Amino acid sequence: MAADPRRCEECGAHFYGRSDAAYCCAACRQKAYRARKHRRSVGSTREEEFRSVIGQARRSRTNARETRRLAGQVRARAQAERLAAAEQIDRARASRAGLTDAH
Ligand SMILES: [Zn+2]
Repeated sequence: MAADPRRCEECGAHFYGRSDAAYCCAACRQKAYRARKHRRSVGSTREEEFRSVIGQARRSRTNARETRRLAGQVRARAQAERLAAAEQIDRARASRAGLTDAH
């Protein structure tokens, strides 16, 4: 029984060969191999990019947290100063009132 012609996975040409042959010739096999290798390296490059983007996102999240923390400190300090100023004003008023009373 004659084998059916196979179809090259690289160039699509019909050819006769072993039942497990995927390519018509060595050149096509090489080409397919190189393409596979290229795809793999492109894939790992994408993965590296993805990882670096995730790393950047994580870093900017950390920066945002740090900025929020600093802003909270500044806010707390400003409020403490406002309170201290208000107390000072109260004290000044009280002593002025005391002086007025004494008169
Ligand atoms: Zn071929």
